[in-house]
Amino acid sequence: MNKKDTEYFKKLLLDKRRELMEQMDFIKEAEMETTVKEASGDHSSYAFHMADQGTDTMEREKNFYYAQRDGRLLYHIDQTLERIEKGTFGLCQSCNNPIDRKRLMAVPHARLCIQCKSKEERVNES
Ligand SMILES: [Zn+2]
Repeated sequence: MNKKDTEYFKKLLLDKRRELMEQMDFIKEAEMETTVKEASGDHSSYAFHMADQGTDTMEREKNFYYAQRDGRLLYHIDQTLERIEKGTFGLCQSCNNPIDRKRLMAVPHARLCIQCKSKEERVNES
């Protein structure tokens, strides 16, 4: 992979990283709003309050899930940026063969070539 290609993927990864950071900030803000609402304590009706609480909990779980998934993706993106610096970007971490360019276009933070990836998925399924 030449320098121009590497620069291209680096830009792609940095853009994706920024996007993720913004999403995570948004989730954190939503989380804080929920906490403030709960702290202000609306005790108008017991049943009503219970229903509210259920919805809030579900919202929070969903946000937590997104935060985790984004966090993992962010980790992979950071690792990939490190590999760009080290000059090992675009190589499969399992068999060391170059990862297909089309695959990198779709998933710039891919760690494995498509062969190793499908092997890994088969292992996880069984
Ligand atoms: Zn491989």
